[in-house]
Amino acid sequence: MAYKTHPSERKHHAMERARFLDLLERHLPPDTLLSEAEDLRPYECDGLSAYRELPWIVALPETLEQVQAVLRLCHEHAVPVVARGAGTGLSGGALPVANGVLLSLAKFTRILALDPLNRTARVQPGVRNLAISEAAAPHGLYYAPDPSSQIACTIGGNVAENSGGVHCLKYGLTVHNVLEVRMLTIEGELVTLGGSGLDGPGYDLLALLCGSEGLLGIIVEIVVKLLPVPPYAQVLLASFASIEAAGAAVAAIIAAGLLPAGLEMMDNIALRAVEAFVHVGYPVEAAAIVLCELDGTPEQVEADTAKALGVLSRCGALEVRRSQNEVERRKLWAGRKAAFPAIGRLAPDYYCMDGTIPRRHLAEVLRRIGELSAEYGLPVANVFHAGDGNLHPLIMYDANHSDELERAEGFGERILKLCVAVGGTVTGEHGVGMEKLNPMCLQFPGPELAQFHAVKAAFDPKGLLNPGKGIPSLHRCAEFGAMHVHEGKLPHPELARF
Ligand SMILES: Cc1cc2nc3c(=O)[nH]c(=O)nc-3n(C[C@H](O)[C@H](O)[C@H](O)COP(=O)(O)OP(=O)(O)OC[C@H]3O[C@@H](n4cnc5c(N)ncnc54)[C@H](O)[C@@H]3O)c2cc1C
Repeated sequence: MAYKTHPSERKHHAMERARFLDLLERHLPPDTLLSEAEDLRPYECDGLSAYRELPWIVALPETLEQVQAVLRLCHEHAVPVVARGAGTGLSGGALPVANGVLLSLAKFTRILALDPLNRTARVQPGVRNLAISEAAAPHGLYYAPDPSSQIACTIGGNVAENSGGVHCLKYGLTVHNVLEVRMLTIEGELVTLGGSGLDGPGYDLLALLCGSEGLLGIIVEIVVKLLPVPPYAQVLLASFASIEAAGAAVAAIIAAGLLPAGLEMMDNIALRAVEAFVHVGYPVEAAAIVLCELDGTPEQVEADTAKALGVLSRCGALEVRRSQNEVERRKLWAGRKAAFPAIGRLAPDYYCMDGTIPRRHLAEVLRRIGELSAEYGLPVANVFHAGDGNLHPLIMYDANHSDELERAEGFGERILKLCVAVGGTVTGEHGVGMEKLNPMCLQFPGPELAQFHAVKAAFDPKGLLNPGKGIPSLHRCAEFGAMHVHEGKLPHPELARF
């Protein structure tokens, strides 16, 4: 989807763009500015490739002063600006704005300080998530939040999306692992949010910034917490005859008082795709598997494993395997981490949904997703952070086939309605971006959206930072009709099923 403009409007924009480029060139070296269509093309979308747009200009600054110059000029000339890390986002958050600047932080890749004594690292926003753990490894430390995209995604993007990952069930999301952020306002002012204390005076603006999707400011430096690598970890792989039984087992593990380091689930479609791709020895006949990682001292792991084995057996597990060493443990996770690309091999396109639900509804919601798959005539694979109740149904489609994209979007919207209907949320970790604007109307039918807009206006009165993303306009929500659903004027189509 790209937005169309009238030819006369395009000519006007071309002149405006040339003038603005000229201004930028006075502050930034020529090789940090891209403006030719073929150079802009790699930046036209993020991981949600159904939405595409060419920006006016891509800026790739190398210094803080250059970022400040870009922001000051954008502010002065009312030019929209969209921040970009690695562009792995799945909700269109880094989708460029047609008449705006795409501000890439890709050149800010330095780990500025690693403090093993205080267990912290001060890093630039373009540092890859995994690079932090790699740098901390010689000290027996690591950075816990581990999105499956961690090999590529940046810590700046992680903070902006409040990203999660396999280990976030036990160790918390990005927001729980960040101590301080230095941010540039749209006026180019440098502010420091948070600090080394457990609490501080004033509003908790650091928490506000985590998950702000580039709408409030540009993150230029981050202090993250590092954790000691657990002395021992073991993964259990349990297979089940039905997806409902696997969902019930996940809820039962938590109910038994266990807090696994990771608790993930994959259905049969996902299992088969992964096995064909990375050959890790997953049981492809199972309807679903649960991967449960327990970590701590060897004694703790042994005791927790015994408890988990009891729960899994009572929940009807067909077979449970235990990783016997670190190589086997990594191998079992390698399949999970490769799940998205593996499913990418099954269909020309897939649409990754991201909703959360209370764990107790896992079984029934997964069953309902299966029914919706038949109704929309599109296959769906489920591979997700089950312990967090964070679903990732991957709807497979072919954008070249007449209405398949439209059907995939309709299917996705029904899944998110379902999540809200059972008391969940329309995004677990991928953010709102462009994609979740309508579902946000469902999630926040009352005065909450007006408060969100007020916060946005306090940071960015001209609305230049990542405009049109994250928070739907009240007008849009009125059109979407969500208010009526929540005021009980219309029956909620999904609620009727529960
Ligand atoms: C295969 C795959 C697996 C994934 N698995 C997970 C997962 O397990 N968990 C998860 O949470 N996500 C996952 N994601 C989504 C994605 O990787 C995360 O959202 C990640 O945090 C995005 O980082 P990025 O550097 O690519 O950011 P981008 O996509 O470039 O940007 C994301 C958002 O952050 C903003 N932004 C980026 N940098 C800055 C900055 N310096 N200052 C202000 N705003 C900024 C952008 O404007 C945009 O709104 C996955 C994606 C893929 C493709």
